[in-house]
Amino acid sequence: MNTLVIVAHPDDPEFFCGGAIARWAAAGDAIRYVIVTGGDKGSDDPDMTPERLVALRQIEQRKAAARLGVDDIVFLGYVDGELANTLGLQRDLCREIRRFAADRVVTTDPLTLSYHNTRVNHNDHRIIGQAVCDALFPAAGNRMYFPELLAIGFAPHAPKELWFSGPTMPNTLLDVTDWVDAKISAIREHPSQVKDPEGIARRIPQGLFRMRADGSQGYFENYRRVVL
Ligand SMILES: [Zn+2]
Repeated sequence: MNTLVIVAHPDDPEFFCGGAIARWAAAGDAIRYVIVTGGDKGSDDPDMTPERLVALRQIEQRKAAARLGVDDIVFLGYVDGELANTLGLQRDLCREIRRFAADRVVTTDPLTLSYHNTRVNHNDHRIIGQAVCDALFPAAGNRMYFPELLAIGFAPHAPKELWFSGPTMPNTLLDVTDWVDAKISAIREHPSQVKDPEGIARRIPQGLFRMRADGSQGYFENYRRVVL
């Protein structure tokens, strides 16, 4: 299955859905990331510049993806923190969905305003989720949308599934027990963003821990899965 992960920032694939990505890659799926912004506001270092940060985070992103079995990454280069759900963004995402002939598209839930009532969800995460919805249906599968894409060879293609990570209304618990270590090691490949790697290594499993119906224990990522 061709799986396209479309997210706002370098490190979003690993934090939001690293277990699923590792599981699907191990199962033989073709997986590509589309990282929409450069992550160029993700630093408090007064000596850091946006240009250096973009370059650094691309290197980190490639190392992190490799930990999960992914080496196919598209960086769209939008400005961090300034995403808007414009027709131009929808056209770019529609093009990438068609280019990859994505069967499954994974993004962040546009409905999620906060996590656990303690953290506000980043605006870019909500905007990109909404823009992916709008690019995916009906535009990706409809030849009348963005005829300029058709004119340069991007034929209509309709994905079969849309998965929202960090969902407000989850309907799918994905067992990632065998891929928790891969997820943690991938997150740790983002040192510019991870100030407390030992704390991350403790908290990630705590957040994924669940009891199965048969009483056994495992680790699960939560999604809202939409079958189209
Ligand atoms: Zn992010």
